Amino acid sequence: MKIASVSCQAYRLPLKEPWISAKYRITHHELVRTIITTDGGQEGVGWCTTIGVGGLSVASLVNAYLAPLLIGEDARNNERLWERLWQDLHFAGPSGISTLAIGALDIGLWDLRAKHAHMPLWQLLGGARRSVPVFASAVNLHLSQAALLEQVERQLAEGYEVFKLKIGRSDFEGDLARVRAVRNLIGPSRTLLLDSNQRWRSGDAVRFCQALQSVGAGWIEEPMLSDDVGGHAHLRRSVGIPVAVGEQLGNRFDFWNYVRQDAADILQPNVWKVGGITEWMKIANLAHAANLLIAPHNALELSAHLVGAIPNGYMVENIEGGNLADFGILQDAPTAIGGRIDLDDEVGHGVVFDEGALAEYEMSGNVPLERQSSVHEGI
Ligand SMILES: [Mg+2]
Repeated sequence: MKIASVSCQAYRLPLKEPWISAKYRITHHELVRTIITTDGGQEGVGWCTTIGVGGLSVASLVNAYLAPLLIGEDARNNERLWERLWQDLHFAGPSGISTLAIGALDIGLWDLRAKHAHMPLWQLLGGARRSVPVFASAVNLHLSQAALLEQVERQLAEGYEVFKLKIGRSDFEGDLARVRAVRNLIGPSRTLLLDSNQRWRSGDAVRFCQALQSVGAGWIEEPMLSDDVGGHAHLRRSVGIPVAVGEQLGNRFDFWNYVRQDAADILQPNVWKVGGITEWMKIANLAHAANLLIAPHNALELSAHLVGAIPNGYMVENIEGGNLADFGILQDAPTAIGGRIDLDDEVGHGVVFDEGALAEYEMSGNVPLERQSSVHEGI
């Protein structure tokens, strides 16, 4: 099962509505898709997405530097290949663009392996459960309170029991009023998750989270810069809201730093950002050893398989407008219905791209993009 060829292409996908959180205004996602073909003619499909920036860099890394290292290798040797690529890129950086590029390849290799074994990915990786809970998520900090409540009402009608709300406005009292309004709408027994997208510093985070305790939050996500592990540990010791973190962390060492400093309750590895499934599973095992839950960030189509694979999977995130299907580029994929995804017996990850729809968004060359910084001054 030797790797005969690797192809990789980047696509720039416009969001239907911009995503506005406490720090960022996002207008596009980028998709980097790989196809790995073996000498027997089997194909594995992998991909990563970026939040608006870096897709061309990832595709260049794959095409120019990583793909040549895979040719002639046995596609089933996931650990050997992952380690080879990661060590090779370590001078360029042990996370970020490097692990996104490795992730796009690693996911394709796991797809191949699952197809070769005639098994669905969730079962090949462990098979802990076939049906996984999904929570409703949206990038909704800019919405008026009325529009926000309308959105949550719609999610309630779709059958969701867990809801995530963006916070981190400049006016904390206004923020708190929005959170209370959503809590009143969903009632006391449903779960409300809060995400401030790294907006605060540790002192403010403690003060704000103490005020938020009365609304019964299921977690506070990214309360401050993810680089500030000590600040998260301080927050966790100071308030009674579980701390969730991980979407900005790039490999198992980043997660281990959080675990050993008792700085998080829930880990949120993003399968693309940590270098794919091989590394994601190590992070899940690390969390299991520390008796922590995993709630993967984004990547619904793959996160469903991953949460289905492990014993300490919590929930899958369904971010409104951010799934591959929302861009109209899929023929088939695992889909959330009524707050759950029921995984099936289809081999591999089951994601089939619509090639015709994708072609419209293809990126090429080093042409400057018409774009503004995704960082804004606050709402
Ligand atoms: Mg988040």
